[in-house]
Amino acid sequence: MYVVMVTPEIAPAAKVGGLADVVHGLAREVGLRGNAVETVLPFYDCLRHDQIHNLEKTFEHLWVPFHEMWIHCDVYTGDVGGVRTHFIQPHSHHDFFNRGGFYGQEDDPARFAFFSRAALEFFLKSGRNPDVIHCHDWQTGLVPVLLHEVYGALGLVHPRVCYTLHNIDHQGVTGADLLRDVGLVPEALMHPDRMQQHDDPGAANLMKGGIVFANFVTTVSMRYAEEIRGTDLGRGLQGTLDAHARKLGGVVNGIDYGTWNPEIDPHIPCRYSVDNVAEKFRDKTALRHRLMLRDSFRPIAAIVSRLDRQKGVDLMRHALFYALANDCQFVLLGTSPDPEITGHFLELKEHLNENEDCHLEIDYDEELSHLIYAGADMMVVPSAFEPCGLTQMIAMRYGTVPVVRATGGLADTVADANHSDKPFEERTGYTFEDFSPEGLESAFGRAIGLWYRFPGYFHQLRLNGMYRDFSWKNPGNDYINVYEHIRAR
Ligand code: ADP
Repeated sequence: MYVVMVTPEIAPAAKVGGLADVVHGLAREVGLRGNAVETVLPFYDCLRHDQIHNLEKTFEHLWVPFHEMWIHCDVYTGDVGGVRTHFIQPHSHHDFFNRGGFYGQEDDPARFAFFSRAALEFFLKSGRNPDVIHCHDWQTGLVPVLLHEVYGALGLVHPRVCYTLHNIDHQGVTGADLLRDVGLVPEALMHPDRMQQHDDPGAANLMKGGIVFANFVTTVSMRYAEEIRGTDLGRGLQGTLDAHARKLGGVVNGIDYGTWNPEIDPHIPCRYSVDNVAEKFRDKTALRHRLMLRDSFRPIAAIVSRLDRQKGVDLMRHALFYALANDCQFVLLGTSPDPEITGHFLELKEHLNENEDCHLEIDYDEELSHLIYAGADMMVVPSAFEPCGLTQMIAMRYGTVPVVRATGGLADTVADANHSDKPFEERTGYTFEDFSPEGLESAFGRAIGLWYRFPGYFHQLRLNGMYRDFSWKNPGNDYINVYEHIRAR
């Protein structure tokens, strides 16, 4: 099978968040199973060139129609962590991808609408006819629309489209004129059951277009698939998702076992596996020394997260004080693009500066995150919503017991030690339903209590998590099944 991913991100060359890791992990896994896999991205000026090997110009003079003109593009191809990746570089006064960053520009919808058209033009002109085009998030929502409305008639009749929603909070809502700019007919698409924004009849919704025109739509957990279809978490797309429910599915992301593996992790001083998990204690000591926490007989609870309302910043603060009041040390590693939230956590850090039982690191530090996953006893993830979430899976891989709000992928991947209907050996952590301080305490209190009173049970919970398979093996199977399903139709 020949699969091409059209995506705004791929780790580690162009990464903003989890989407980049998912595209890389999935592309590698599908490739390892004997399929031909390529990815297509914009040639951002902020690409990490140290993470792209053998980059060379492979296609010249790609002319892409846009807003009554033709934009001249070149295509460069290189290797990103074992994945063959094409970067489309337009040359025009728009300077679409020379902005010093990935997103956050006023013309983001135009930038990525152009990219979607350019990717299809590249397939057409370079003679590529993939079996499956896999697109990701709102930035590439126009790909299936353009394929259906324009490129099928030009000869791209073969590809089927799988469209994955990583986060429905960003949908690419824009003026309908943009559709004309990329060669579509707004009058044909601006209907409630096509691309019209539900609460603004003059606006087009790019993600909605992707959902309507793709052959299959996935999101990153079963629970999130239900939540966005049936509750406000759909952010206005509930009706569209419900109407297309027969082609909607959930696949929990994998984590990269090359990066996240306590047996070989170069960032932790003491490596361990299920056979010698007691060794984890030495990483706990190293974490304490690194963050100047005192050595004492008590558990360490941690948070590694973007500091964002979605992630439950108020509950994080509550978790910190609850931990300190209940003989538990606390470590937080996080950053926020919001100066108000950053200021709040910096104040908290200063206020607690002398406290030997907690440390707040307001920074992005990949290496320190490894030591925290290895050295902590519990990982707290109090999200308001969470499409999938990687931190809880990484924590379990490192024998660190997750304490999570039961939403989205957190609900699908963590089984509560006391209340789950699964057998004990499949229970891996603590969950709570209510997004409130009381809700958090109901789970966190049980975790701390078990650590003190029943260390043998706590040890078993750690092992249960470590025995779970969070590699790309299962999600890889699921996506290949989706690809085969849409090809057969
Ligand atoms: P999201 O993609 O919504 O931010 P995920 O749980 O899917 O959340 O992925 C978060 C990833 O980013 C995890 O690998 C986590 O370890 C990492 N991460 C988040 N904040 C930091 C930080 N401040 N320093 C290092 N790694 C971080």
